[in-house]
Amino acid sequence: MNYFEYKDGVLCAEGVRLDLLAQKVGTPFYCYSTATLERHYRVFSSALPAGSLVAYAVKANDNLAVLKTLARLGAGADVVSGGELAKALAAGVPASKIVFSGVGKTRAEMRAGLDAGIYQFNVESEPELAALNDVALAAGRRAAVSLRINPDVDARTHAKINTGTAETKFGIPFGHARAAYAHAAMLKGIEIVGVDVHIGSQITELEPFEQAFTIAGDLIATLRGDGHTISRLDLGGGLGVPYEHNNEPPPDPTAYGAMVTRVTRDFGCKLSFEPGRLIAANAGVLVSEVIYVKRGDARTFLIIDAGMNDLVRPAMYDAFHEIVAVAEPVPGSPRPKYDVVGPVCETSDLFASERPLPELKSGDLVAILTAGAYGAVMAGDYNARPRLAEVLVAGEQWGIVRPRESIADLVAKDRIPDWLED
Ligand SMILES: *Cc1c(COP(=O)(O)O)cnc(C)c1O
Repeated sequence: MNYFEYKDGVLCAEGVRLDLLAQKVGTPFYCYSTATLERHYRVFSSALPAGSLVAYAVKANDNLAVLKTLARLGAGADVVSGGELAKALAAGVPASKIVFSGVGKTRAEMRAGLDAGIYQFNVESEPELAALNDVALAAGRRAAVSLRINPDVDARTHAKINTGTAETKFGIPFGHARAAYAHAAMLKGIEIVGVDVHIGSQITELEPFEQAFTIAGDLIATLRGDGHTISRLDLGGGLGVPYEHNNEPPPDPTAYGAMVTRVTRDFGCKLSFEPGRLIAANAGVLVSEVIYVKRGDARTFLIIDAGMNDLVRPAMYDAFHEIVAVAEPVPGSPRPKYDVVGPVCETSDLFASERPLPELKSGDLVAILTAGAYGAVMAGDYNARPRLAEVLVAGEQWGIVRPRESIADLVAKDRIPDWLED
């Protein structure tokens, strides 16, 4: 469900026409919908057991305006770097609702989290535990910790976003968990509070979640038997979203919430969740202008002004994104097949292959849908392409929430060392 719809023949974000926005801000740009972000957050959080913490996974879309929109609804944040921590705090997420995840937290990042007074650290290895203990003792604090357990469950998603099997770098292997908790209990700078699992992203079935959560429940019982106080359970993120209109949709948050409620009923834990994609993906589109239509022998190429540096998901994860014309097509009009490509000099700069689309010409606008998560956050300036703009819409209002980088900004980022100066 989202609020990007055709009105009077033009695709709109809520009450704002995307063609007029393109005139104002230029292309390409990301456009986010407040109503969609809010709706997704509310649908998800209201499906969960009362008292749960929803810590939005900042890495999905870390724009301050997006974070603030969610913080105002009561969202916490799941951060994976000192940068994300700073952004979450700057956007008004209370430290008491911030969870710090990630396999490679540095001591400086740990210190920043401790100084802020975050809710908890999700620790992913024994060496990390030792480092956090040192940092906490040096700061005269105790770090609230859940250990992230790798339950060795296959989330049955794309290999690059499957994180809960024994072959991935994430979490402490299930078989090492008791020993790790026993060790943690002896560290004066560490306060063990719970257990954490996160098995992957774009998960479209409930079974892998249920398996992982059940394993976490068994572990909690074992750990309590060992004398640990386990009062929290972090169930991670990972719930998938529909990228294709005619695909069977992934389970909705209500079904997920009902499963969670059933499985965790007797765990006696405060639950936390780290949804990213589910909140942000369908709340954003990438608007781009057709530069050329190039007719090859085998394919017709729609060359647009957005490239893989702006949205890398197709190149990186073989991801499918719906692409639509911003001008509403006349029903029954022809739909020739295009390869939709960007200007970047890479064969993988390909958004869609042999995709039926309305007849398009140079200057027309297209929107790449479901681009609100893992879109702008992964954008770069490869091919010396300035970073694109981001816009947030709320009803009839819109604002540039990340200005487009200028070519001058881009050139000014580098430095010439002394010996090369003329
Ligand atoms: C990426 C990530 C998330 C968010 O995953 P989504 O699939 O976007 O919900 C949550 N927790 C951790 C630890 C992550 O690495």
